[in-house]
Amino acid sequence: MAEQLTPEQAAALQEKLKQMSPEQIQELVKKQCVFCRIVAGEIPSKKVYEDDNFLAFLDINPANIGHVLVVTKDHFSVLPQLPNELAAKYFVLVKELSARIYDALGAQGINILQNNGPAAGQEVPHIHIHIIPRFEEDGVRFTWEPKKAEESEVDAVLNKIKAKAKDIDIKGVSVSKKKEVIEMTEEREQFDSKGAAPSPARRIP
Ligand code: 5GP
Ligand code: ZN
Repeated sequence: MAEQLTPEQAAALQEKLKQMSPEQIQELVKKQCVFCRIVAGEIPSKKVYEDDNFLAFLDINPANIGHVLVVTKDHFSVLPQLPNELAAKYFVLVKELSARIYDALGAQGINILQNNGPAAGQEVPHIHIHIIPRFEEDGVRFTWEPKKAEESEVDAVLNKIKAKAKDIDIKGVSVSKKKEVIEMTEEREQFDSKGAAPSPARRIP
């Protein structure tokens, strides 16, 4: 737990921040952020993958051994801040890493987890995606009590989200219908009927 500032300290900090440029604030954030420090090599990590935009490394407190975190090299706090171009690459990378983790560990399942904001359990305020390899009876649980509500309340919430979703435009993000996608459809049928994980080898072009 971080120490609480006194009201005087908080006011002094506010004043200091007001006088700083956006670049200076970004530098300050980077110095304080554990994942920025891992990206900069100031804190060691067990790296599994790196490119110009992303770094993937093992979680220090894994849900299962082989639990990987994928972070952006630039500091963004939460998913909605991510530029679409980077978000598209991010998800492809997570998919590719997942396929390889299935293969490398003989995982029987994988959870992709991404927490945004303290209310959602985000502890490190630098965007990260968890890739968690899963095995039968491994004891890892993500459970919740289903919430109950009147249908009118559910519909009111539905309408609020739909109204906001109207202006989404992802036409600029191109998706080609490759052979791989078609093969996946066949494998999906197998997966559904046998409960078997699709073969990673066939999923990687
Ligand atoms: P969150 O709850 O924010 O989604 O997850 C943060 C994750 O980061 C946790 O699973 C935690 O174990 C991991 N983590 C926090 N600090 C470090 C660190 O210094 N090194 C590594 N490798 N993982 C960390
Ligand atoms: Zn950061």
